[in-house]
Amino acid sequence: MSADKAQRRPGRRGLAADRFDVIVVGARCAGASLATLLARQGAKVAVVEQAQFPRDTLSSHVIQTDALAFLRRLGVMEQVQATGARFMSHVDARLGDARVLVPYPQLPGDVGGAACIRRFIFDPILADAAAAAGAHVHMATKVVGLVEEDGRVAGVRVVDKGSERVLRAKLVVGADGRSSTIARLCGARSYNVRRNERTYYWSFFEGAELSGEPTFVLHRWGDRFVFGGPADSGLYIVGISPEAGERDDFRRTLERSFMDHANSCEPVAATIAGATRATKIFGIRSFSTYFREGAGRGWVLAGDAGHFKDPAVGRGIGDAFLQADALAPIILDKLDAQPAVLDRALRRWVRWRDREFAGHYWLGADIGKAGAVPTPVPEVIRRLHANGRTERFIELFSHRRDYSNVFSPPAVIDATARLLVRGGCDRPALLREVGGLLAEDTRRRWVNVRPVFAPPAPRDIATAVAAGTAEHGARVSRLPLGRDASGRWTTSRRQYDAVREEDRHGA
Ligand SMILES: Cc1cc2nc3c(=O)[nH]c(=O)nc-3n(C[C@H](O)[C@H](O)[C@H](O)COP(=O)(O)OP(=O)(O)OC[C@H]3O[C@@H](n4cnc5c(N)ncnc54)[C@H](O)[C@@H]3O)c2cc1C
Repeated sequence: MSADKAQRRPGRRGLAADRFDVIVVGARCAGASLATLLARQGAKVAVVEQAQFPRDTLSSHVIQTDALAFLRRLGVMEQVQATGARFMSHVDARLGDARVLVPYPQLPGDVGGAACIRRFIFDPILADAAAAAGAHVHMATKVVGLVEEDGRVAGVRVVDKGSERVLRAKLVVGADGRSSTIARLCGARSYNVRRNERTYYWSFFEGAELSGEPTFVLHRWGDRFVFGGPADSGLYIVGISPEAGERDDFRRTLERSFMDHANSCEPVAATIAGATRATKIFGIRSFSTYFREGAGRGWVLAGDAGHFKDPAVGRGIGDAFLQADALAPIILDKLDAQPAVLDRALRRWVRWRDREFAGHYWLGADIGKAGAVPTPVPEVIRRLHANGRTERFIELFSHRRDYSNVFSPPAVIDATARLLVRGGCDRPALLREVGGLLAEDTRRRWVNVRPVFAPPAPRDIATAVAAGTAEHGARVSRLPLGRDASGRWTTSRRQYDAVREEDRHGA
């Protein structure tokens, strides 16, 4: 973006009617933060959000260290602190029989270890920041279609108070969450898809014992998974995660089962012993995790729209910020370039996204798995703790360490050797288990290079064709499909690229 453009602060009134540099669909973590960063540098940005804030969304609201630091840089720390959320200074983490209770590792510029703010309070802070930066924020406005020009996405059709109109832009960003309309209209396919093995339930308590160091508790042992921590407005959040197989029984006796799980975690039970539940029990029973094709001609996906990992790691909010932070300078740099140059830069960004989040995708999958944590994992943590390197484990949750650095094959083999020497375990069973873990590690590295595509839902093809993005729909519907070892429909990257190439040359 040119220097004189960057000086301009367009503000709401200075915009050419309904024509923007960038349209961002979705005004929560990914959309509002990206719009703020773009608008502050002088880009003409429209944000389109179908909800009228304040409106809650399904999320257990844990904001990790790196995300708090991002909020400080975004300039909204005063508003965040005004929510009454206590920033947690300590973490009490347990995996299997390894437990550590340590201060959160902090880097210069950090403001705390973690915080928990309910989304109907938190998200409006982000949307207000976008509006204050000069973005034109359209609330209660739903995107229902795309505008195409010369084979590119050139805007969106929106419905606002019952009437439809068109907004145009050089780039449309889908920051519209897991059921992204932009992804569907553009025919973006999902890959490396996994079904959840655990369900998630959470609720807020008032009158909890909050006098000690504000501590985030995350305990995963046996078939149990419980977390807790101080939240906004003097509340205390408790989250639990029963295995998906027990969800029907669990749901039938929701209140009792919820409290059984919560009270089976000693530090959480002690904190809420004299407390009363202040909200309903929120929950999600069924979901998929995935990566999605993230960019095409005139469009890009950010946040959950392009990638969703198991909430077990509490990384969605922080990852949305990381993506916005990395995407904004690319958009600003290439917005005035040839469209093909912008598209290429965005496709490169998507490849970065896939590399950057692959490790944490599998971390989420592992912590969110049914059953006990793998046998060597607690030993790896004990070893780190004994060597004064516990921060390496904790920094997984702030995305400051990669999974493959902490639970690497050498670390797993070393832990296994120690367990074998120590004895008292079923050695053949342990060796079989570790063999399986190492094989899985190799498979994951491979699948991150050559993604396994899920078949497009018929509805998605129909939507793409009907919406006038038939190019995408037709391409997707012509893909040769196969099945992978576990019986899922797949298409290899090579097959997909071949079809793409045909499209490009009009074959
Ligand atoms: C059960 C559960 C627990 C979680 N717990 C945590 C946690 O503790 N910590 C954490 O960091 N992350 C957590 N996450 C993940 C986190 O909630 C998401 O990663 C995060 O909200 C992603 O933000 P986003 O902006 O990409 O999408 P979203 O928050 O989904 O926002 C998308 C927005 O787009 C709008 N939109 C959609 N379609 C349209 C349309 N057609 N037109 C206009 N607007 C549209 C929606 O109304 C919505 O406001 C959890 C997720 C789940 C499901």
